[in-house]
Amino acid sequence: MSQDRTISSYWSAPVEGWTLVIHGGAGQLRQLNLSKEQEDHARVVLVAALDSGAKILAAGGSAVDAVEAAVRVLEDDPYFNAGRGAVFSADGINELDAAIMDGATRDAGAVSAVTKARNPVTLARAVMEQSPHVMLTAGGADRFGAEHGIEQVAPAWFHTDERWRQYEELRKGGTFDADLKYGTVGAVARDAQGHVAAATSTGGLTGKRWNRIGDSPVIGAGTWAEDAGAATSCTGSGEHFIRVGAAHELSARVRLGGAGLDEAAGAVIGEIGAFGGVGGLISVDAQGRGGWCFNSQGMYRGMARGGEPHRVELYGIGE
Ligand code: ASP
Repeated sequence: MSQDRTISSYWSAPVEGWTLVIHGGAGQLRQLNLSKEQEDHARVVLVAALDSGAKILAAGGSAVDAVEAAVRVLEDDPYFNAGRGAVFSADGINELDAAIMDGATRDAGAVSAVTKARNPVTLARAVMEQSPHVMLTAGGADRFGAEHGIEQVAPAWFHTDERWRQYEELRKGGTFDADLKYGTVGAVARDAQGHVAAATSTGGLTGKRWNRIGDSPVIGAGTWAEDAGAATSCTGSGEHFIRVGAAHELSARVRLGGAGLDEAAGAVIGEIGAFGGVGGLISVDAQGRGGWCFNSQGMYRGMARGGEPHRVELYGIGE
């Protein structure tokens, strides 16, 4: 992988009211040759996710409720690699990872390699609120979900023809997912009370083996939120984001180093690029600044704020 990738970023000015930022994964979108229909579909779903979170925030709801709601919309759509549209592992099954964190309390919940919850982000929230733990995995996490009334689905719910085709292509020696596309989804929000939250959900990498777990459910790597710093959700080559402690590193640069979100995010993505990593992140702070930063060619992303039109973008600089 190239180590001098172009970084694309956008950061808004602070606002008094609420801010919501979402992503649907980073990657080389142009090389995927997205059809007009695919592009239109992605935009429609991103707007729907923004709408669901914005409705909660506009009514004075919490950042945690908003990020969960936005991520659930993206999980339910087969287009994104999370929930319903999750990729297949080497064993031909869907193993889902998700996390959520409340910046006001620093409560956090995460699940990895789960197979039964329709909305893994909601299972992660149940871990946060209804267990004494932060992270549950595989069969135990599935059992916890069933015991706590989290909606369960059969494996067929997660079977989409396109993901199966990608899996078959990879098995035949192709390189579909590893190089072309990361499709995790995530949301970060700052509510009208000034609190932040973050959530991330993913199917991980196509053809992953040995119960591989990426950065998404690792609190501090792919997901992190603290009012005194920032709330961040990441997407990309998870191993690099774990090694950089990306989402926590960004927050620490803000909280301890006094950096602005733009500077902190640029430094984190720069460090990931220096290790050969590729991907991006979305972030908000307690002053209502928000935006994104990525070194991949594109990243599905959107932003909503009170009184402003939604902003939805797919491509980056150079695409
Ligand atoms: N970061 C995710 C992982 O490594 C993949 C992605 O963003 O699509 O599992």
